Amino acid sequence: MVKICCIGAGYVGGPTMAMIAFKCPKIEVVVVDIAVARINAWNSDRLPIFEPGLDEVVKACRGRNLFFSADVEKHVAEADIVFVSVNTPTKTRGLGAGKAADLTYWESAARMIADVSKSDKIVVEKSTVPVKTAEAIEKILTHNNKGINFQILSNPEFLAEGTAMEDLAKPDRVLIGGRETPEGRKAVETLKAVYAHWVPEDQIITMNLWSAELSKLAANAILAQRISSVNAMSALCEATGADVAEVAYAVGKDSRIGPKFLNASVGFGGSCFQKDILNLVYICECNGLTEVANYWKQVVQINDYQKSRFVKRVVSSMFNTVSGKKIAILGFAFKKDTGDTRETAAIDVCHGLLGDKAQLSVYDPQVTADQIMRDLAMNKFDWDHPQHLQPMSPTTTKQKPAFIFDGRNVINVEELRKIGFIVYSVGKPLDP
Ligand code: NAD
Repeated sequence: MVKICCIGAGYVGGPTMAMIAFKCPKIEVVVVDIAVARINAWNSDRLPIFEPGLDEVVKACRGRNLFFSADVEKHVAEADIVFVSVNTPTKTRGLGAGKAADLTYWESAARMIADVSKSDKIVVEKSTVPVKTAEAIEKILTHNNKGINFQILSNPEFLAEGTAMEDLAKPDRVLIGGRETPEGRKAVETLKAVYAHWVPEDQIITMNLWSAELSKLAANAILAQRISSVNAMSALCEATGADVAEVAYAVGKDSRIGPKFLNASVGFGGSCFQKDILNLVYICECNGLTEVANYWKQVVQINDYQKSRFVKRVVSSMFNTVSGKKIAILGFAFKKDTGDTRETAAIDVCHGLLGDKAQLSVYDPQVTADQIMRDLAMNKFDWDHPQHLQPMSPTTTKQKPAFIFDGRNVINVEELRKIGFIVYSVGKPLDP
């Protein structure tokens, strides 16, 4: 039986490997990371990330065929298949800063694999990487050629935080890209056999390396584009009296379009959409495709516009200033059922309001006060932990009128208006 090692015990590496270990009891899976505290957390009762269903799966196989270790080199050396699931953030300096993917972590993982390997290995790109990354990795791996055969596969991950375990258990598809050589095809078959333990064969799609690498960027770009499209429409709805929920419903009923990812909101957040689109923009520019780059750039620009539009709406509704006004922010992570605050729209909204000297109280059931303070780079913070939230009549508050601004369109506008709140929902007719 094959031995698997995954470099990177984060939001992708942890849940993905837990699912493989769960579904393949005879395969040994070791997840390694240089972040010792993270590994310790994976070995404890308080896992480092929150995902519905994750605790149960980890508990079922940790110590049986699922292990977490900071002894990175030992476990990489012993593995037949090495997944690399390290972070690939946007570069902050140098060539391509603000757009290109920073492949520093990937490069150091690849150099380490080359150094410690004593047997043939399949190296799997699990992280989201720019198209053609496998070519660079091959160069690193084969540079210190000790007669070892390395096969690189692209196996991008499509899980969404908040529903990761469900997505992993029943993926829409699994992509495996490999070289079109006999060794490449054999490596693809080996990885396919792992997923075939629980994924129907017709949902495991094999293709060339570059198609697989690009498919992940393309999927994220098109998902984010749908959000920006409906958000752009929400601005027009507000200007004309149309209701974006009704428009999205009508549009989504078209079977060519479908209803998913058509909810207007304060804008998308998270560590992937913006990063991956900017990466795509950079790749287009590097290939001389300026018009295509400009097209995708707009998706991010509309998202930024939506966030600033929301802040402006709050300030202008509250008589053009929020200075000294008490505002409660409910929800801080980038979406529900996760504690991940990377690039959450809430950071921009909070900064926008703090810029006008609002007094904020922030609450999220999955995010600690420390994390929020780190994200907002603040030392002092007015902190609030409401356990149960009930609509409260503004007649019981000292300040009148009281406002609610719904950036997710989840509240019952009519009910709250009835008891006296002034309510703004993205893309909906304004308070009469
Ligand atoms: P993460 O930051 O949560 O985890 C990455 C881990 O890699 C960190 O714990 C880090 O310490 C570790 N690491 C970095 N360099 C290392 C090295 N040389 N050796 C050992 N460990 C090392 O990131 P993530 O959210 O899990 O994302 C990982 C990749 O998956 C990214 O490319 C991301 O774009 C992609 N992805 C993320 C999601 C998501 O929802 N988070 C979904 C699909 C794909």
